Amino acid sequence: MTATTRPAHHAHARQLHCACCGRPFARPSMRGPAPLYCSADCQKQMRVRMRVWNEVGQARPERFRRAS
Ligand SMILES: [Zn+2]
Repeated sequence: MTATTRPAHHAHARQLHCACCGRPFARPSMRGPAPLYCSADCQKQMRVRMRVWNEVGQARPERFRRAS
């Protein structure tokens, strides 16, 4: 038996997906770390979203439960 060699697919190496809206976008440059968002606007939106998530995580359900 011959060792199966899987051909690497590099066709979508430069194709990235925005962590905010999920849209595929092309990497502007191969230098530096890969960007997570397709635009600065998405980056800003994700920041707001994460802040909201933090606030929700800090909200305790015990507050709504009245111990009698
Ligand atoms: Zn986006």
